[in-house]
Amino acid sequence: MTPSKLPSIIAIDGPAASGKSTLGLSIANALGYLFFDTGVMYRAITWLALNRDIDIHDESAVTLLAENVQIDVAPASKSDGRACDVLIEGRDITWETRLPEVDANVSVISAYAGVRAALTRQQRRIGQRGRVVMVGRDIGTVVLPEADLKIYLDATAEERARRRYNEIVTRGGTAEYKDILAKVIERDRIDSTRDVAPLKAAKDAVVLDSNNINAEEVFRRVMALFA
Ligand code: C5P
Repeated sequence: MTPSKLPSIIAIDGPAASGKSTLGLSIANALGYLFFDTGVMYRAITWLALNRDIDIHDESAVTLLAENVQIDVAPASKSDGRACDVLIEGRDITWETRLPEVDANVSVISAYAGVRAALTRQQRRIGQRGRVVMVGRDIGTVVLPEADLKIYLDATAEERARRRYNEIVTRGGTAEYKDILAKVIERDRIDSTRDVAPLKAAKDAVVLDSNNINAEEVFRRVMALFA
């Protein structure tokens, strides 16, 4: 593999729990690139709005928040299962961004055009430096359409809910599979039907169906695209 053949900007998009972060982190580690999970920015704004008792349905108030708050995403400072640190105004909110109330509300705020404009600006600035694996819903279509390699990772809602359920149970938590499935389906519906930057594969994306292959095999197939 010659260095010049390596894609410098790699975009990975796909629906909730499709394995984008696992794949993105493995590729970033293998290439020595920055891993940037854009979902954490939408989650951070959602958490902050809930924390400040801002009505999630008040588009102007949430947009004002997104325009004025500084979210920092940094390499993981602890080995407690996190892929990166998420800081807001100096406070580590990495695990708060994974709370069920954030899961339940994040798709509402990420449909707001002003929120997307504010966060997309920050994401582009980081992505355009190159040597980056950026993960989200609209990276190949809107944030970095110039990406050298675009992957769209998919799996059925049932398979994705099953993986999310296993993750929770493995961490010692309790969950109902059918509740997780309902939430996954609802989040997909909002993400793929919104007016601004809906979830979809870019025309030039490599679409990977991960229903019958595990994370190692997905990683191997992506690396084979440029090896
Ligand atoms: O990837 P993750 O599940 O953490 O993303 C949380 C939510 O953030 C998604 O359901 C979606 O509503 C939003 N999101 C987005 N655009 C991105 C990344 C995430 O709209 N690029």
